[in-house]
Amino acid sequence: MTEITTEKYIESASQALKDQTLQSALANVQGRLGPGTAAAYRNLAEGPDLRLKAHEIREHAVNNLDILLETLAGNIRSNGGKVFFARTARNAVDYCLDLAKTFKVSQAVKGKSMVTEEIGLNPAMEAAGMEVNETDLGEYIIQLAGEHPSHIIAPAIHKTRQQVGKLFSEKLDIPYTENPPELTHAARKALREKFLSADMGISGCNLACAETGHITLVSNEGNIRMSTTLPRVHVAVMGMERVVANLEDHEILFRLLSRGAAAQKLGGCVTYIGGPGGPEFPDGPEEFHLIILDNGRSRILADPEFREILCCIRCSACLNACPVYGKIGGHAYGSTYCGPIGAVLTPLMVGINRAKDLCLGESLCGACQQACSVNIDLPRMLRELRARLADGDPDWDVTPVSRTEKGVYRAWAFLVNHPGLYRLFLKLGALGQKIFPKNKEMISSMPGPAKGWTQTRDIPPIAKTPFRDQWKKLNSNKR
Ligand code: SF4
Repeated sequence: MTEITTEKYIESASQALKDQTLQSALANVQGRLGPGTAAAYRNLAEGPDLRLKAHEIREHAVNNLDILLETLAGNIRSNGGKVFFARTARNAVDYCLDLAKTFKVSQAVKGKSMVTEEIGLNPAMEAAGMEVNETDLGEYIIQLAGEHPSHIIAPAIHKTRQQVGKLFSEKLDIPYTENPPELTHAARKALREKFLSADMGISGCNLACAETGHITLVSNEGNIRMSTTLPRVHVAVMGMERVVANLEDHEILFRLLSRGAAAQKLGGCVTYIGGPGGPEFPDGPEEFHLIILDNGRSRILADPEFREILCCIRCSACLNACPVYGKIGGHAYGSTYCGPIGAVLTPLMVGINRAKDLCLGESLCGACQQACSVNIDLPRMLRELRARLADGDPDWDVTPVSRTEKGVYRAWAFLVNHPGLYRLFLKLGALGQKIFPKNKEMISSMPGPAKGWTQTRDIPPIAKTPFRDQWKKLNSNKR
């Protein structure tokens, strides 16, 4: 599995806020894709409400996963493909390694795939002595840089062209240039050799259709087509939730996927794969293997409060709308999945206590749900995660984060339910707050557990005249 560093969220986010290059890259991607996606939904013949229909489609698929996956597997097998159900990341990686051994693979090419990041496939294959080359330009850049993706569909969004120019000049041994077409040409030239010499092609899976028994892959560069057809063996890895029932459902989701991902009506290159090549499809590989990965998804499926997250089609629209992602970028989340989707999914996959800062760090503004191509209620699940952190949950091995905080909120609930006591509290508070240091009439520092409230901003003091009294006075003056 890819290294998880969610514990460093606060530290990494603080560093990201100071990184001016990252700040302008994030502003650029959100400024471009956020409004573009909203316009693309509006321009659908069915209008933005198609997202609601898509949500139903995904819910239906998630609620019928067992049947749909069996149908998908059956259809792929009857087309000559092989299907492996991997319970864990390790099982999936071992299957790939065994396959590579059988076919004496020394080089592999890979299309962009977050699920292979999730299982840590590249390091495992490299440790087994193989060369794995990413073929999506963004992935290729970060592979050369020795980094991880910072965005689901734009993995190198945090890099400037000057940084890419320097990287290519060092790693590809070419004269320095920061001209994008020249950089792209250099990557293309280097990758052509890799495509031709690879024995194995690896891809993810954007969507799978049970009825027809095919997987769909979308790219803007055509690299996935070459990765999946040129090598002798093609292995596709899919999260088990990515299946839909039929072609009609598939078509609706697919239209929304392109719009949510890049505000496009259609992805540049769309590849449908249902099995290996043969007399009818001479361009296909000799072997096609589909790995259907669980890796904690069954546990999520079993919890009615969280199973909605399995409706996600990884379009990344929520990242492009999220004010938190827009400031801290993807690396701060410290796991494969970042942004609002990561803030829900990562705690469920790696441990709610362990990744608590991710869900506590989101603003609950609701922009993610509005942007989501399948209208997932991410804010509801973020709140649910916070509730589990507050109350504890043995089913998810969650221990309450802070008994003090819970006690404080209980006391607060008691106060607001007893107006007399509440008023007395405010009066005492107004007197007590005089001891706190001020900055232009605002409280600039508070002690103990309350200090977080004033760490990065000043807060207004309790008003001398409570709103309730001001309201009464206002109304009596009107009469
Ligand atoms: S949660 Fe919605 S917007 Fe975010 S990646 Fe998933 S489908 Fe896309």
